Amino acid sequence: MRAKKQETSRRPGRRALIIGAAAVVVGGGIALERDRVSRLWWRMPGAQKPRVEGAVDFAGARWINASSSNYRRADRPYDYGIDRVVIHVTQGSYASAVKVFQDPGHGAAAHYIVRKDGHITQMIRELDVAFHAGNREYNERSIGIEHEGFVDDASSFTDAMYAASARLTARICARYEIPVDRKHIIGHVEVPGTDHTDPGPHWDWDRYIRMVREADTRRT
Ligand SMILES: [Zn+2]
Repeated sequence: MRAKKQETSRRPGRRALIIGAAAVVVGGGIALERDRVSRLWWRMPGAQKPRVEGAVDFAGARWINASSSNYRRADRPYDYGIDRVVIHVTQGSYASAVKVFQDPGHGAAAHYIVRKDGHITQMIRELDVAFHAGNREYNERSIGIEHEGFVDDASSFTDAMYAASARLTARICARYEIPVDRKHIIGHVEVPGTDHTDPGPHWDWDRYIRMVREADTRRT
């Protein structure tokens, strides 16, 4: 329940802030664009959105902390806009992915891991910059989703996994107004400068994009 509240409270919170900022503009007689004012406010020292321990951004996810060495605290989408979802494959079991994301020496982690059975774990908040794409700019602008399995094993990618991941990505795209297409939903392999090949040739992109488009974002 706490998770749901956290998700639904984000936008009204922002609107309330913008309204507050607009009042400041009128009072001071300074013609600043509303959204810019709200961004500046959040950049003031000490100003941070309240964080609830264990809160998730997707109502269907369960929370497990990643090591704070594997991401950078941020305040997206106010400090960095989010316009990409990056699809990964773990090259190992779900349990091994959770373990390395908790390891401060690993230096990398994604926001979410989708298990073969469709279970979704969130390890980094969407407002923070996860080190998952191996490219600073892409890390700052994207949400990273890992999928349990191996790039060379077609059986890794189950119906339950596609369905759960598609609902998650659909919700992310709806929240940040990201177009549902292959320009904005990309594989790790497509990140500039990467030597990773995931999700690999067995990931069915046509099916996935179709499922993301068809997912009911109101219920997830
Ligand atoms: Zn990857």
